[in-house]
Amino acid sequence: MARTALVTGGSRGIGAAISKALKAEGYNVAATYAGNDEAAAKFTAETGIATYKWNVADYDESAAGIAKVEAEIGPIDIVVANAGITRDAPFHKMTPEQWHQVIDTNLTGVFNTVHPVWPGMRERKFGRVIVISSINGQKGQFAQVNYAATKAGDLGIVKSLAQEGARAGITANAICPGYIATEMVMAIPEKVRDSIVAGIPAGRLGEPEEIARCVTFLASEDSGFINGSTISANGAQFFV
Ligand code: NDP
Repeated sequence: MARTALVTGGSRGIGAAISKALKAEGYNVAATYAGNDEAAAKFTAETGIATYKWNVADYDESAAGIAKVEAEIGPIDIVVANAGITRDAPFHKMTPEQWHQVIDTNLTGVFNTVHPVWPGMRERKFGRVIVISSINGQKGQFAQVNYAATKAGDLGIVKSLAQEGARAGITANAICPGYIATEMVMAIPEKVRDSIVAGIPAGRLGEPEEIARCVTFLASEDSGFINGSTISANGAQFFV
């Protein structure tokens, strides 16, 4: 029977490419989103992938949403914690609200997404936890103290989960994309974006599908000995 994969933030951007790639590999896929009903409805109509709305920053909503997905589609064997936001500001101007919004969504959101599926993975002796971190968690970034903290935190999460899950057949890995052509990056002013591209040895932004291919690789049965790792996919911008 086909395994079930959950992709948070799976209806737009990198997450949408991940959802589609997992479906193409034969998984049952559930994609979540936060509030953009129109984009989610369009995505479901185009792909046939079921979408579910909940806020990853809220534990109870996440647990209830995950229970619904498992009742409607099947036990979740692959979880892709992809939902993320930015609230950029230089540190001296960063507000506590901007700090907490990003921590709650990008870091606590990973806990809220993985914690409810973890017991089932342990029982079934199989699981794939894949967290979408960022190059900016590896190297830091001007005006992203909040964001970089969460993305660096993701690497600690997967390294720890890997050690806890290894004997139960569960792997936990992170992917650190560089700059990928999504709405998040296209929202950066063009001049700034041009200077970013100039600093990428590959001379271009990455495509969401290039991150999705890393996910399908890590999700597969064959990747069981890759655990606690980080895949950097950034056009040779930074080597870790
Ligand atoms: P987008 O802004 O294009 O999409 C974000 C997705 O996350 C949307 O589906 C959105 O839902 C969902 N989302 C946001 N907040 C919440 C929340 N609180 N609860 C549930 N869902 C939420 O992002 P990208 O595709 O660009 O980024 C995806 C991931 O990749 C993020 O974690 C990001 O940090 C990371 N990343 C992105 C890079 C890039 O260059 N784009 C580079 C490195 C890392 P809705 O549609 O309802 O708003």
